[in-house]
Amino acid sequence: MKCRRCRAKAVIKIERHHSAFCKACFNEHILKQVERAVKKDGMFDRDDPVLVAVSGGKDSLALWDVLLNLGHRATGLHVALGIGGYSDASREKTERFASARGAKLIVHHLRESLGVGVPEIAEKSSRPPCSACGTIKRYSFNQIARQYGFSVLATGHNLDDEAARLLGNVLHWQEEYLDKQFAVLQAARDPVNGRGGLVKKVKPLYRLAEREMAAYAVMNRIDYIVEECPNAKGAKILVYKEALNRLEEEAPGTKQNFYLSILKRWIPRLKPDSGVEENWQSCRQCGQPTSTNAGAGCR
Ligand code: SF4
Repeated sequence: MKCRRCRAKAVIKIERHHSAFCKACFNEHILKQVERAVKKDGMFDRDDPVLVAVSGGKDSLALWDVLLNLGHRATGLHVALGIGGYSDASREKTERFASARGAKLIVHHLRESLGVGVPEIAEKSSRPPCSACGTIKRYSFNQIARQYGFSVLATGHNLDDEAARLLGNVLHWQEEYLDKQFAVLQAARDPVNGRGGLVKKVKPLYRLAEREMAAYAVMNRIDYIVEECPNAKGAKILVYKEALNRLEEEAPGTKQNFYLSILKRWIPRLKPDSGVEENWQSCRQCGQPTSTNAGAGCR
């Protein structure tokens, strides 16, 4: 198997692009795909400071690495979720990456700011841990981006994440979540008082598969957390990913077609304002966006 670009020995095959790459050309391919998404989708400009949400996993650390390699002013944000040893190990990986790259990192400890971690928040609110965790992460990302004056927040969601989430939303006809599936979610002011609101959120890896990001991380010796969060066991999203992987094996390109076609053709018909998050207001106490009358932190 030869590299499509330089004819050297290929180390990775990407069936859906009918391509294979050597390590150097693969790295170039990943950087180009991210750069293309950033420019073509108007995510941010070269001089814009970007806050990158980094969990310590392969996708977010690889995204941070790619953005730094492309010369962007990318600062990491790690939210320490307070999920025992898993959270400690995730934070350590993130801190090690930042110090090896000389990159700026903001670490936000939930236990210091709220006095509790995800397990207690889930218990007190009687919600499944992942649901409580998702809400508190979105809340913290937005709050810290605003506090430090960032106008854009990048996350490491890849093609597999988005396609699996979309499959779940379609299977359960969860129209209300479709507007969050875009690669760019525009900043929005509070619809009632015009103040504060949501910072712009972008997903520069939305055209890249999980397998490609794992390969990028391994080839570039990015030391990421391999163990899964203890709460991930039995998560539905893993089942959807498995189903899509099976389809992808039989028909390469299925995941990409499914996600990108629905994104382009179907969602805008259902929701003409797609790309803007809907159904939110500012919390009366903290001013953070919320879907009810009190923000996640205040609840
Ligand atoms: Fe949070 Fe669930 Fe992910 Fe664990 S698996 S980090 S609880 S969303």
